[in-house]
Amino acid sequence: MKIDIVSVFPEYFEVAGLSLLGKAQDKGLVTVKAHNLRDWTHDVHHSVDDTPVGGGAGMVMKPQVWAECLDDLLGLDAAGAEETGDAQATPTERSEDAPVQQARDGRGGRPVLIFPNPSAPLFKQADAAELSQADHLIFGCGRYEGYDARIPDYYRGQGLDVREYSIGDYVLNGGEVAVSVMMEAIARLLPGFMGNPASIEEESYTGAKPLLEYRQYTRPTNWRGMEVPQVLISGDHAKVDRFRWDEALERTSRIRPDLIERLDCSQLDKHDLAK
Ligand code: SAM
Repeated sequence: MKIDIVSVFPEYFEVAGLSLLGKAQDKGLVTVKAHNLRDWTHDVHHSVDDTPVGGGAGMVMKPQVWAECLDDLLGLDAAGAEETGDAQATPTERSEDAPVQQARDGRGGRPVLIFPNPSAPLFKQADAAELSQADHLIFGCGRYEGYDARIPDYYRGQGLDVREYSIGDYVLNGGEVAVSVMMEAIARLLPGFMGNPASIEEESYTGAKPLLEYRQYTRPTNWRGMEVPQVLISGDHAKVDRFRWDEALERTSRIRPDLIERLDCSQLDKHDLAK
């Protein structure tokens, strides 16, 4: 998988060289490259933002600089719209398929463009699983009041797969942290990323019955007078499985009832339904 990230603070992503993501890069499973959006500016101040149309506080990221950058990363011919003054050129005025085909051929695999945005749908484990199948992800980090809304719309209009995701109901200063979160959730699902592939099979939000995980313990079984649940040292695997499943169900009902509501009840047995 190839990951390109566009940011005005590309240094944020130096951490991608650490830990398991760093090892995955060494193994050639994934490449992560952070680009400085300001490299696509033409003015002396390298400005990427302007005041909001309609007024209001703060600054908004300009579409022209983003488009020059994204066209380059996608291997698309520049629309030439800004230079010719034809800034309103719509996708229908251009070949719908040509840019997508170029993007497919140019950089290996159909790219997915992802913009973090607090006012977008929440990024979930299922999104991470789906995106882990992609060959090429391009993340665009917003800053200030965010990016001009036409940027994702433009590339959608070009037939590209464009996503906008929030990582939670709060507002960060920029998209860098959100991209780090999404990138890690996606990359760890790549085959070969985890030393033990079984570690990602039975996790919170994962699998056919996506619940919160049961609680985990390690040795010593008695620590500061606190015992681990005795069933876990019984050696009876069926009982351990039952205990863990019951605990997952109980914790999920209490902490995240919304997940229980979405559960397919046909997958539960009589024992579960009685709870
Ligand atoms: N004016 C925007 C609003 O009220 O929705 C907030 C913009 S925020 C200060 C700047 C950038 O940070 C956003 O464009 C986005 O890229 C990123 N960001 C902030 N919070 C986020 C969140 N919860 N999830 C994903 N991205 C976020």
